[in-house]
This record gives sequence, structure tokens and C-alpha cells, in this order.
Amino acid sequence: MSGFIERLLEPERLDCPLCTRNRQTHLYAETDLYWVADCPICAVPLVAWKLHDTQPSSVAVVRMLNALLVASFEFFEGLEGTFWFDGRMVWCPGHWHVHARHGGKNGKEM
Ligand SMILES: [Zn+2]
Ligand SMILES: [Zn+2]
Repeated sequence: MSGFIERLLEPERLDCPLCTRNRQTHLYAETDLYWVADCPICAVPLVAWKLHDTQPSSVAVVRMLNALLVASFEFFEGLEGTFWFDGRMVWCPGHWHVHARHGGKNGKEM
């Protein structure tokens, strides 16, 4: 079965920005498991699981967060302050993703 037909059978995924990745931004890494790219809305690195689900295995989570960490060191290099991982799935509640956000000098969210 082609991927196109599978998508037709699962209309939820047609509307999901993480499944379709319809706004191309800088891509840091991609595997069968995940992709890491700049979020088109927040403009910070974002890792997304390739399954439209909220419960990846612990092993998958470790691999994905490690990939986000690598991208974060690249992205935040030279910026003052720290960064933190934001696991709140606000953008797409049904699809596991984590943002890396800049903590700023005072630890304030940006
Ligand atoms: Zn975002
Ligand atoms: Zn999705």
C-alpha cells in the first residue's frame, strides 16, 4: 500500500503539521524514528516522533532527546544563557514532540 493511500485512510494525519511537515525549515537530522528541524512557528529546534502518537518507548525518547540535544548545541551556540526542553505538546496534542527553548540570562522563558 502506498503512503498516499495510508494517509487518505487516516485524515487526522493530513491536518497534523508534524506528520505532514508541510512547512520546510532547517533540518538537523532525520531517521526512521524522528526528525529534528527548526519549528516554523517558534524558530527553535524541535524533535518530532514519526508516529502520530503520544507514547514513544523510553528507548525512543532517549534517542530523540539526544538528537535534539545535538541540534540545540548547534542552534544555541554563542547565545547567552541556557536552553531547556519543553515537552508541553501544545502545538499538536496528539503527536509527541519536544521544543528546545532559550532560557535567557535570568532563566526567563523566551
Ligand atoms: Zn514551535
Ligand atoms: Zn501527527
